[in-house]
Amino acid sequence: MEAIYCQGCGVEIQTTNPEQPGYAPSSALEREDIICKRCFRLKHYNEVQDVPYQDDDFLEMLNQISKNEGLVVQLVDIFDFNGSFISGLKRHTGSNPVILVGNKMDVLPKSVNPGKVKLWLKKAAKEQGLSVKDVFLISAEKNQGITELSQAIDEYRNGKDVYVVGTTNVGKSTFINTLIANTSGVKDAITTSYFPGTTLGFIDIPLDDESSLYDTPGVIQRHQMAHYVSDKDLKTITPNKEIKPKVYQLNEEQTLFFGGLARLDFVGGERSSFICYLSNDMTIHRTKLEKADSLYEDHLGGMLSPPGEETLDLLPPLESHTFKIKENKTDLVFSGLGWVTIPEGGITVTAYAPRGVKVSLRDSLI
Ligand code: GDP
Repeated sequence: MEAIYCQGCGVEIQTTNPEQPGYAPSSALEREDIICKRCFRLKHYNEVQDVPYQDDDFLEMLNQISKNEGLVVQLVDIFDFNGSFISGLKRHTGSNPVILVGNKMDVLPKSVNPGKVKLWLKKAAKEQGLSVKDVFLISAEKNQGITELSQAIDEYRNGKDVYVVGTTNVGKSTFINTLIANTSGVKDAITTSYFPGTTLGFIDIPLDDESSLYDTPGVIQRHQMAHYVSDKDLKTITPNKEIKPKVYQLNEEQTLFFGGLARLDFVGGERSSFICYLSNDMTIHRTKLEKADSLYEDHLGGMLSPPGEETLDLLPPLESHTFKIKENKTDLVFSGLGWVTIPEGGITVTAYAPRGVKVSLRDSLI
C-alpha cells in the first residue's frame, strides 16, 4: 500500500493498530480527505487522545532538518517566551539560517513599542545561544504582520525549503492556516486546537515545484503550565485579547495569589509596585503573608481558582523559589501563566508555582 498521510496532522496513516498514532479504519481510506482517528475525534468531538510519543521523540524528528538545507522559522509565544523557546534548537537545525517569530502580539497592551519587543526577543535568543537572521512580530489569529513575514520568508529562503518549528501551543497550526488562507483562500487547512501535541509528523505544504514549507511536530516542554491544567482552565489562563495589566502597591509581608495556581510573597524591601500581566480572566487575591497558607488551604479550587475540579487532580504541589531582585525593571515570569514587572530592584520575593513549572527573572519586556 502506498503511504497515505493524515490531512489533519501529517502522521502516516495505518489501519492495523488503533492504539498507535495514525490509525484510521480501512473504511476511511475510501474518503477523499483521510484523517487519523485522533484528528477525527479532535475535529468532531473536540477530544484529544494521548499518543505514545515521548518528548525526546519530538526533538528527534526535528533532527531531520539539520540534514537538509532550508530556512528555519521558529515561532514563539510572546506571552510565554521562556516556556515556548526551544533551547538547543541549533543542535537540531544545524547551520540553517533561523528567523524568530513572536506570535500572539495581539495580547500585549497596545502601548507596547514593537521595535523594543523585537530587540528584546533578539537579545533573549542570543542569550540562549541562537543568533537569528531577523525577528518578526505577528498575530496568527488576527492575521497581523503575516504579509510582511511571508515576504521575508520568500527572500531569506532563497528558493529552498522552509521549516516552521515551535513548542506546542505557540500557534503554529494557526499561523500555517493563516498563511494558506491568505494565499489560497482555503480555511482551516490544518487542524487547530487549544490542546498541546496535535501535529505529529511533518506536514508538507508545496511552495512551488521544487520547494515546500514543512509544519514540524510541536515540541513538548514539560515546564509549560499547559501540561498541568485541564483544557477548561487552560482557556482561562491563556489570554485571548489585549492584556490589561493590574497594578498592586504592596508592603512587605503581603502576598498575591494568582487564582490558586501561583503565589507571590513580598518578603522584604520598601513598599513597591507589582504590575501583573496575566489573562484578564485570572483573579488576583491580595492577603497578608501570615494568612496566606491558611487561605490557600481553605480556598484552593473555590475562591482561589483556577484550578477547577479537573485540574486539582493533575496539579503538582506548589514549590517555592526565592529571588533577590537587584535590577530595576525586572519581570518575574511564571511560565505560561504570565509575569509580574517589578519597577525597582532591591527587594526580595518568594514565588510559588506548581512543581515543574518554571519561574524565572528577565529584563522587563515592556
Ligand atoms: P500549535 O500547537 O502551535 O499548533 O498551536 P495552535 O495553532 O493550535 O494554537 C494554540 C492556541 O493559541 C489556540 O488556542 C489558538 O487559538 C491560540 N492562538 C494562536 N495564534 C494566536 C494569536 O495570534 N493570538 C492569540 N491571542 N491566540 C492565538
